[in-house]
This record gives sequence, C-alpha cells and structure tokens, in this order.
Amino acid sequence: MSRAEPLYRLQLIDIDLDQALKQLRGVEDALASNPAVVHAQVELEAAQQAYHKIASDLRALELEAHGMDDKIKENEERLYKGNIHTPKELVDLQREVESLRHHRAEMEESMLTIMLNQDEASQVVQHCRTALDEATRHWLEDSINLRQERQQFHDRISADEERREAICSAIPHSDLEAYTILRSKKPNGVAVSLVRGGACGQCGESPSSVLLQQTRTGTSLTNCTTCGRILYVG
Ligand SMILES: [Zn+2]
Repeated sequence: MSRAEPLYRLQLIDIDLDQALKQLRGVEDALASNPAVVHAQVELEAAQQAYHKIASDLRALELEAHGMDDKIKENEERLYKGNIHTPKELVDLQREVESLRHHRAEMEESMLTIMLNQDEASQVVQHCRTALDEATRHWLEDSINLRQERQQFHDRISADEERREAICSAIPHSDLEAYTILRSKKPNGVAVSLVRGGACGQCGESPSSVLLQQTRTGTSLTNCTTCGRILYVG
C-alpha cells in the first residue's frame, strides 16, 4: 500500500461528506420554507391590503353620507316648520338643500362603484387564500418525503464520520495535516490526485518516472510539481 492510499480513501469519504452536507442543507431549506407558499402568502397579503383599503374608503364615505343625511333632514325640517323670516333666507336654504341632495346622489353613485370594487377585491382575497391553501398542502405532502430524505442524509453522514474516524486513526499526523491544508486550499476540495495514464488526474501534468516510482512505492508522500496535490497511483 502506498503512503497516499489511506489519504485517497479518506478523500473519497470527505467528498461524499461534503456532498451529503450540501444536499442536507438543501433539504433543510426546503423544509423550512417553500417559494410557492411564500409567493402565495405575499399575494394574499397584497389582496387583503387592497380589500381593507377599499373597505376603509367605503366606511369613510358612508360616514360622510350619514352626516349629509342629517344636514339635509335638519334643513328640511327648518323649511317645513316655516320659521324662516325673510324670502332670501328661504331661497338660500332651498338652494342649500338642493345642493346637498345633488351631492348626496353623486355620493351614492360613488359608494355603489366602491361596493362593486369591494366585491371584486373580496373574490381576489378568496382566490389567493385558496391558492395559499393549495400551495401549503403540496408543501406538506412534499415534506413527508423531505423528512425521509433528511433522515437518509443524517444516516449517511454518521456512517461517513465513523469511517473517517477509523481511517484517520491509521494515518500519520503529518500526512493528515498536509492533506487537510491542501484540501482547504484547493477550490474543488481535491488534495489527492489519482494518476491516470501516467499523468496527474487533476492538472494533466506528467510526473517524471522517478517521481512516479516514488509515488508507487515510496515511504513519503509525493506531490505533483505543477498543481502541488498529493499524487496517488491506484
Ligand atoms: Zn497536478
């Protein structure tokens, strides 16, 4: 067994661990939040806000209309009671009542339009609520599978960690340190390069025959002269 072999086997486990941890994070994210549900929630909130705005406008208009009704009633009573002293006062009051009635009629039109808008907004809210329920139901269904996947990743990670510990206990400390430093420096996390067809499997450089011989049988680790990775001949 060459010196690099246990490091190569360790690397296979570490690469698998990295993949499993990355996939586990994806599963955890998918369990924590669902884009379709978030989107449906945002849509529902916007629809509810639009509905409340219309309802509030309508209430304000209704209050104004009530005030106007009171004013019309008050003026009409004054007209019918006949305690008006001058013709000018009578004409002014009649004009005011007319103007109020005209304005009140316009207001009634506006309120009808707003009520129609309110009905439409209410339907939109209902539609968004149904969409949110649907998205949530799908997410919950998916979550059953996701939780199973999460358990499988946890099992795989535990098994990798156990195997890792067993291999590490048999590797010289200095080799492990060289491997760890190299692995952290390489963007793809590959510290040990498998030699294929006489060339470094990572950068393609062909090591000298002396270096290759040392790699096969030597008692110390050998490194690719180009990419610096630990060489391993399988
Ligand atoms: Zn190389």
